[in-house]
Amino acid sequence: MDNGLRNEYLNAMGVQQWVARDAVVPVDAPDWTELENMVSGCTLCGLQESRTRTVFGVGNHNADWLVIGEAPGADEDRQGEPFVGRAGQLLTEMLFAIGLQRDDVFICNILKCRPPGNRNPSTEEVDFCHAYLQRQIELIDPRLILAVGGVAANSLLGLNEKVGALRGKVHRYGEQEIPLVVTYHPAYLLRSPLEKRKVWKDLQFARAICANGQAE
Ligand code: SF4
Repeated sequence: MDNGLRNEYLNAMGVQQWVARDAVVPVDAPDWTELENMVSGCTLCGLQESRTRTVFGVGNHNADWLVIGEAPGADEDRQGEPFVGRAGQLLTEMLFAIGLQRDDVFICNILKCRPPGNRNPSTEEVDFCHAYLQRQIELIDPRLILAVGGVAANSLLGLNEKVGALRGKVHRYGEQEIPLVVTYHPAYLLRSPLEKRKVWKDLQFARAICANGQAE
Protein backbone atom coordinates (compact mmCIF):
# COMPACT_ATOMS: atom_id res chain seq x y z
CA MET A 1 0.00 0.00 0.00
CA ASP A 2 1.41 3.42 -0.87
CA ASN A 3 1.94 6.02 1.81
CA GLY A 4 -0.77 8.29 0.44
CA LEU A 5 -3.50 5.69 0.79
CA ARG A 6 -2.25 4.56 4.15
CA ASN A 7 -2.24 8.14 5.39
CA GLU A 8 -5.78 8.61 4.12
CA TYR A 9 -6.94 5.74 6.30
CA LEU A 10 -4.92 6.87 9.23
CA ASN A 11 -6.01 10.46 8.82
CA ALA A 12 -9.60 9.27 8.98
CA MET A 13 -8.64 7.69 12.27
CA GLY A 14 -7.19 10.99 13.47
CA VAL A 15 -3.61 9.80 13.82
CA GLN A 16 -1.98 11.05 10.67
CA GLN A 17 0.64 13.19 12.36
CA TRP A 18 2.53 10.30 13.87
CA VAL A 19 1.96 7.35 11.67
CA ALA A 20 4.06 7.31 8.60
CA ARG A 21 7.07 5.05 8.64
CA ASP A 22 10.16 7.21 9.20
CA ALA A 23 8.02 10.21 10.09
CA VAL A 24 9.35 12.80 12.43
CA VAL A 25 7.89 12.40 15.87
CA PRO A 26 4.74 14.26 16.16
CA VAL A 27 2.96 16.75 18.07
CA ASP A 28 -0.19 15.33 19.59
CA ALA A 29 1.20 11.83 19.56
CA PRO A 30 -0.81 9.48 21.75
CA ASP A 31 0.40 8.47 25.19
CA TRP A 32 0.28 4.85 26.38
CA THR A 33 -3.35 4.90 27.42
CA GLU A 34 -4.52 6.62 24.26
CA LEU A 35 -2.46 4.29 22.11
CA GLU A 36 -3.82 1.16 23.80
CA ASN A 37 -7.37 2.46 23.39
CA MET A 38 -6.74 3.12 19.70
CA VAL A 39 -5.42 -0.39 19.19
CA SER A 40 -8.28 -2.02 21.06
CA GLY A 41 -10.80 -0.36 18.75
CA CYS A 42 -8.81 -0.65 15.55
CA THR A 43 -10.46 -1.94 12.40
CA LEU A 44 -7.89 -0.70 9.90
CA CYS A 45 -6.70 -3.88 8.26
CA GLY A 46 -9.71 -6.15 8.68
CA LEU A 47 -8.23 -8.53 11.26
CA GLN A 48 -10.73 -7.28 13.83
CA GLU A 49 -13.16 -9.71 12.22
CA SER A 50 -11.23 -12.76 13.31
CA ARG A 51 -9.60 -11.61 16.53
CA THR A 52 -10.88 -12.41 20.00
CA ARG A 53 -9.01 -9.45 21.43
CA THR A 54 -6.16 -7.20 20.50
CA VAL A 55 -2.71 -7.96 21.85
CA PHE A 56 -1.12 -4.62 22.59
CA GLY A 57 2.06 -5.69 24.36
CA VAL A 58 3.21 -5.99 27.96
CA GLY A 59 6.10 -5.04 30.14
CA ASN A 60 8.23 -2.16 31.26
CA HIS A 61 7.46 1.13 29.52
CA ASN A 62 11.03 2.25 30.19
CA ALA A 63 12.69 -0.98 29.19
CA ASP A 64 16.17 -1.18 27.75
CA TRP A 65 15.10 -4.21 25.73
CA LEU A 66 12.16 -4.26 23.35
CA VAL A 67 11.30 -7.76 22.17
CA ILE A 68 9.26 -7.86 18.96
CA GLY A 69 7.66 -10.95 17.49
CA GLU A 70 5.40 -11.60 14.57
CA ALA A 71 1.73 -11.71 15.50
CA PRO A 72 -0.52 -13.18 18.19
CA GLY A 73 -1.20 -16.90 18.05
CA ALA A 74 -4.23 -18.69 19.42
CA ASP A 75 -3.19 -18.47 23.09
CA GLU A 76 -2.27 -14.80 22.76
CA ASP A 77 -5.52 -14.03 20.99
CA ARG A 78 -7.46 -15.62 23.86
CA GLN A 79 -5.49 -14.01 26.66
CA GLY A 80 -4.66 -10.63 25.10
CA GLU A 81 -0.98 -11.00 25.96
CA PRO A 82 1.95 -11.69 23.64
CA PHE A 83 4.18 -14.72 24.00
CA VAL A 84 2.11 -16.90 26.29
CA GLY A 85 1.74 -20.67 25.96
CA ARG A 86 4.74 -22.93 25.41
CA ALA A 87 6.60 -20.53 23.13
CA GLY A 88 6.02 -17.72 25.58
CA GLN A 89 7.30 -19.83 28.45
CA LEU A 90 10.42 -20.57 26.45
CA LEU A 91 10.94 -16.86 25.73
CA THR A 92 10.61 -16.14 29.45
CA GLU A 93 13.21 -18.82 30.20
CA MET A 94 15.54 -17.46 27.52
CA LEU A 95 15.35 -13.99 29.02
CA PHE A 96 15.84 -15.35 32.52
CA ALA A 97 18.98 -17.15 31.35
CA ILE A 98 20.62 -13.82 30.63
CA GLY A 99 19.42 -12.21 33.84
CA LEU A 100 16.22 -10.55 32.64
CA GLN A 101 12.78 -11.02 34.11
CA ARG A 102 9.87 -10.81 31.73
CA ASP A 103 8.82 -7.58 33.44
CA ASP A 104 12.20 -6.00 32.76
CA VAL A 105 11.56 -5.86 29.02
CA PHE A 106 8.66 -4.81 26.84
CA ILE A 107 7.23 -7.52 24.61
CA CYS A 108 4.98 -6.96 21.62
CA ASN A 109 4.37 -8.03 18.05
CA ILE A 110 4.44 -6.49 14.61
CA LEU A 111 0.69 -7.12 14.39
CA LYS A 112 -1.70 -6.52 17.27
CA CYS A 113 -4.33 -8.98 16.02
CA ARG A 114 -4.14 -12.66 15.15
CA PRO A 115 -4.20 -13.54 11.47
CA PRO A 116 -6.65 -16.41 10.85
CA GLY A 117 -5.06 -19.84 11.15
CA ASN A 118 -1.75 -18.29 12.26
CA ARG A 119 -0.85 -17.45 8.68
CA ASN A 120 1.94 -14.95 8.10
CA PRO A 121 0.90 -11.29 8.20
CA SER A 122 0.33 -9.67 4.82
CA THR A 123 2.36 -6.65 3.79
CA GLU A 124 -0.77 -4.55 3.94
CA GLU A 125 -1.57 -5.64 7.49
CA VAL A 126 1.97 -4.90 8.59
CA ASP A 127 1.79 -1.48 6.98
CA PHE A 128 -1.47 -0.61 8.66
CA CYS A 129 -0.32 -1.78 12.07
CA HIS A 130 3.12 -0.25 11.85
CA ALA A 131 1.99 3.10 13.24
CA TYR A 132 1.15 1.51 16.59
CA LEU A 133 4.45 -0.31 16.81
CA GLN A 134 6.33 2.81 15.78
CA ARG A 135 4.68 4.81 18.54
CA GLN A 136 5.49 2.08 21.08
CA ILE A 137 9.12 2.28 20.02
CA GLU A 138 9.10 6.06 20.38
CA LEU A 139 7.55 5.88 23.83
CA ILE A 140 9.92 3.19 25.12
CA ASP A 141 13.03 4.50 23.37
CA PRO A 142 14.82 1.19 23.98
CA ARG A 143 18.54 0.65 23.94
CA LEU A 144 18.07 -2.54 21.98
CA ILE A 145 15.45 -4.24 19.85
CA LEU A 146 15.43 -8.03 19.80
CA ALA A 147 13.55 -9.21 16.72
CA VAL A 148 12.43 -12.80 17.19
CA GLY A 149 11.74 -14.70 14.01
CA GLY A 150 12.12 -13.91 10.36
CA VAL A 151 8.80 -12.16 9.89
CA ALA A 152 9.49 -9.61 12.62
CA ALA A 153 13.10 -9.11 11.57
CA ASN A 154 12.37 -8.67 7.89
CA SER A 155 9.43 -6.36 8.54
CA LEU A 156 11.48 -4.13 10.80
CA LEU A 157 14.49 -4.07 8.51
CA GLY A 158 12.69 -4.00 5.17
CA LEU A 159 14.53 -7.12 4.07
CA ASN A 160 13.67 -10.58 2.85
CA GLU A 161 16.31 -12.83 4.36
CA LYS A 162 16.47 -16.02 6.36
CA VAL A 163 17.00 -15.64 10.09
CA GLY A 164 20.32 -17.42 9.74
CA ALA A 165 21.59 -14.66 7.47
CA LEU A 166 20.45 -11.91 9.83
CA ARG A 167 21.84 -13.32 13.08
CA GLY A 168 25.15 -12.30 14.57
CA LYS A 169 25.06 -8.73 13.27
CA VAL A 170 23.97 -5.43 14.67
CA HIS A 171 21.31 -3.93 12.47
CA ARG A 172 19.93 -0.45 12.95
CA TYR A 173 16.30 0.52 13.25
CA GLY A 174 14.78 3.85 12.28
CA GLU A 175 16.10 7.36 12.48
CA GLN A 176 17.43 6.80 15.98
CA GLU A 177 19.40 3.86 14.61
CA ILE A 178 18.45 1.68 17.54
CA PRO A 179 20.64 -1.44 17.62
CA LEU A 180 18.59 -4.43 16.49
CA VAL A 181 19.57 -8.06 16.93
CA VAL A 182 17.81 -10.97 15.26
CA THR A 183 17.25 -14.42 16.70
CA TYR A 184 14.97 -17.40 16.17
CA HIS A 185 11.37 -17.40 17.29
CA PRO A 186 10.75 -19.60 20.36
CA ALA A 187 8.01 -21.44 18.45
CA TYR A 188 10.72 -22.53 16.01
CA LEU A 189 12.90 -23.64 18.91
CA LEU A 190 10.13 -25.88 20.16
CA ARG A 191 10.32 -27.68 16.82
CA SER A 192 14.11 -27.49 16.56
CA PRO A 193 15.51 -27.61 20.10
CA LEU A 194 19.10 -28.03 18.87
CA GLU A 195 18.98 -24.39 17.74
CA LYS A 196 18.72 -23.21 21.34
CA ARG A 197 22.49 -22.88 21.50
CA LYS A 198 22.37 -20.36 18.69
CA VAL A 199 19.74 -18.35 20.52
CA TRP A 200 21.86 -18.39 23.65
CA LYS A 201 24.70 -16.90 21.60
CA ASP A 202 22.36 -14.29 20.12
CA LEU A 203 21.15 -13.25 23.55
CA GLN A 204 24.66 -12.93 24.89
CA PHE A 205 25.53 -10.87 21.82
CA ALA A 206 22.51 -8.64 22.43
CA ARG A 207 23.37 -8.25 26.09
CA ALA A 208 26.89 -7.14 25.21
CA ILE A 209 25.60 -4.58 22.73
CA CYS A 210 23.10 -3.25 25.22
CA ALA A 211 25.78 -2.99 27.87
CA ASN A 212 28.15 -1.18 25.53
CA GLY A 213 25.43 1.13 24.33
CA GLN A 214 26.44 0.68 20.74
CA ALA A 215 27.28 -1.80 18.06
CA GLU A 216 30.68 -2.89 17.10
S1 SF4 B 1 -3.68 -5.90 13.18
FE1 SF4 B 1 -3.22 -3.75 13.70
S2 SF4 B 1 -4.03 -2.57 11.97
FE2 SF4 B 1 -4.99 -4.60 11.89
S3 SF4 B 1 -6.95 -4.38 13.00
FE3 SF4 B 1 -5.39 -5.13 14.45
S4 SF4 B 1 -4.58 -3.27 15.44
FE4 SF4 B 1 -5.63 -2.63 13.56
